[in-house]
Amino acid sequence: MTESKEFGWHFNNSYIRLPEAFYAKTDPEVAPSPELVIFNHPLAESLGLDAKSLQSERGVDVLAGNRIPEGAAPIAQAYAGHQFGHFTMLGDGRAVLLGEQITPEGKRVDIQLKGSGRTPFSRGGDGRAGLGPMLREFIISEAMHALGIPTTRSLAVVVTGAPVYREETLEGAVLTRVATSHIRVGTFQYAAARQVVEDLRTLADYTIERHYPEVAKEPNPYVALLQRVMEKQASLLAKWQLVGFIHGVMNTDNMAISGETIDYGPCAFMDTYDPATVFSSIDREGRYAYGNQPGIAEWNLARFAETLLPLLDEDSEKAIEIATKTLSGFAKMYHDHWLAGMRNKLGLFNEEQQDAQLVKDLLKVMKNNQADYTNTFRSLTMDDLNALPMCKTPEFIEWHASWIARLERQPESDSAVKQLMRENNPSVIPRNHRVEEALDAAIKGDFSVMEKLLDALENPYAYTAEQEKYISPSESTTPYRTFCGT
Ligand code: AMP
Ligand code: MG
Repeated sequence: MTESKEFGWHFNNSYIRLPEAFYAKTDPEVAPSPELVIFNHPLAESLGLDAKSLQSERGVDVLAGNRIPEGAAPIAQAYAGHQFGHFTMLGDGRAVLLGEQITPEGKRVDIQLKGSGRTPFSRGGDGRAGLGPMLREFIISEAMHALGIPTTRSLAVVVTGAPVYREETLEGAVLTRVATSHIRVGTFQYAAARQVVEDLRTLADYTIERHYPEVAKEPNPYVALLQRVMEKQASLLAKWQLVGFIHGVMNTDNMAISGETIDYGPCAFMDTYDPATVFSSIDREGRYAYGNQPGIAEWNLARFAETLLPLLDEDSEKAIEIATKTLSGFAKMYHDHWLAGMRNKLGLFNEEQQDAQLVKDLLKVMKNNQADYTNTFRSLTMDDLNALPMCKTPEFIEWHASWIARLERQPESDSAVKQLMRENNPSVIPRNHRVEEALDAAIKGDFSVMEKLLDALENPYAYTAEQEKYISPSESTTPYRTFCGT
């Protein structure tokens, strides 16, 4: 292990020891006049980085890609992916992995610069990113982390001083992204597509060592790997559904093997409860609608399982059998996580057969009444039924009575119930209009709106008075639309 360097970097790069086909050595492009616009102090500290020196001119040069810190070994990673169902060879087209930081606790994390210019995988793209989309990723990823959802993190955003040309001219920016790794389902698809089984095995062994070392001892570690990745995704997807998060572009290259949420493009949180909710302007057929997300995760996992076939068994028929059997466990895994989460949201400590039905009934009432997803659970938590527009409807009254009766069949006190609910129902989520408002101001040079929003989102289960300003959905009647972060 290397000793600590300037800014607290403590790089130890393992990905670069994989076969060369998995990456291309690539330096970030030069940013003409970098300027730091947001910096995540607590994250920097937890990574063992020196927040003060990283914000100095020399430090900002590192965050902009202009200075390669000692111990870093910049690469662009190769990967493939099914984008909206279609297979394509991809790779980091606008990102560079600086290296892997070893944190003071001995954890290994990727430090990636996103928006740092062209790489050998850029295809027709410019490798750049606009300030708005990078700040959006910063806000939403940090909000997800605060909600307790596994995610990549955001360390900093710098503006580069170079314009980015899209439909309009944007200010160029670089986001420093922190992830337990950037190994994707698409990385395995890339390895499988090359048809070099030894390289595929090397990638699988590397992934096991880095993320699931406990499976190395299993009789068939690759089946166990598939199983563990499925469990992580089942848990992650349940967490998304429970808070109403819509990823927006669940392509296989945007699904991390670690189980972290990755690649915040057209993502957004649902306001009105409706499984058909889609925000992304490019998702015309609703492939990645809220209600489809668990099924898409399963589809992506099937693509992952396919890549592992040569490792699952020498006999290809048998390998398919193993993969199919393993994958068939996903629906139950997901449902168990989801139901456990919903029980928490409704203050249920024990289990009854009819609990899933109780939840489904509530969701149906919410859908019928176009109820706000987050605020419905918030009002139930606060016992503030009058805040619910549907509170006087017979169907809600009936549902509420059955919920109260259910609560009375468990021994826990009302205060214990309310505490469990507070811990599981966020008081505040990044509302779309609030995010837009913060980004609009930031793009005009006023970062105070975003800073206040980030403060409100830092402890989403705190139920503070300050958060109340952020709980309303937009009053606009036009549906919210998001655009890809490119
Ligand atoms: P994303 O939609 O961000 O997940 O990106 C999908 C693929 O397109 C990845 O391989 C990206 O690296 C690549 N990509 C996205 N934007 C750009 C860009 N501006 N220049 C080059 N490649 C890009
Ligand atoms: Mg991506």
